[in-house]
This record gives sequence, C-alpha cells and structure tokens, in this order.
Amino acid sequence: MAQDDCLFCKIAKGEVPAEIVRESERTVAFRDINPQAPTHVLVIPRDHYPNAAEAAAADAGLLDEIVREAHEVAAEEGVVDLGYRLVFNTGSGAGQTVFHLHGHVLGGRGMEWPPG
Ligand code: AMP
Ligand code: ZN
Repeated sequence: MAQDDCLFCKIAKGEVPAEIVRESERTVAFRDINPQAPTHVLVIPRDHYPNAAEAAAADAGLLDEIVREAHEVAAEEGVVDLGYRLVFNTGSGAGQTVFHLHGHVLGGRGMEWPPG
C-alpha cells in the first residue's frame, strides 16, 4: 500500500526519477542521491512500511527479500569480496530521515566501527 506524500513510494511507482539498479516483484534498488561510499544503493519494498521492524512484524518474508536483493546489488557492484555494510536506520535519533523502509548498501571502501 502506498502513502501519498512519501518520496520512496513515489520512486517505487516511477513518479519521481531515480537511478534504479535492480528490481524484483516486491523491491526496488536505486542509487542514493547523496552517496557516502563508492557504492551506496538503497533497497526498498514497493509497499510502504515506516521501518524494518514494522515490515518484519507485518509482512513475513519481505525483509529476507530485501537482504537477498541487497546482496545481489553488492555482487553486481563488485563489493562482496571487500565486504559491504547493510544499514537500516530506525528512528530520527539513528539518522532515519525517510520513513519508508530502506536498506543502505554501502561498499567500495573500508568501513570503520563503531559507526558515527
Ligand atoms: P535515512 O537517513 O536512513 O532515512 O536515509 C535516507 C537516504 O535517502 C539518504 O541517504 C538520502 O541521501 C537518500 N535520498 C533522499 N532523497 C533521495 C532521492 N530522491 N533519491 C535517492 N536517494 C535519496
Ligand atoms: Zn512510502
């Protein structure tokens, strides 16, 4: 179900342009507009869920598909061997700014821990 005023619902429906790199029946992957690494792709469900926990509670199997798609993106981008980071920010205090579930696939450079 889409939410009218949601940017990522609009990207999923093709109403707002994005550089789409991969699609599945239930997901869309596109490049982040403000990349934080050489590879920075967002994987979203076509349906609107505000965050990963709410999607997991409401839609069994969807998160698995997002993780599988994220890994396929990482493989297509050639960042699996070096390692990549898959991030689901949840809540504004954790840095979430768009409240439509998205997994950040970050790779192509070394990653520090703990994250900022
Ligand atoms: P978060 O801070 O985890 O909610 O992540 C939201 C991400 O969406 C940020 O990394 C933004 O750079 C990215 N973003 C915002 N608007 C767009 C857009 N129109 N196309 C692609 N990425 C976007
Ligand atoms: Zn949405």
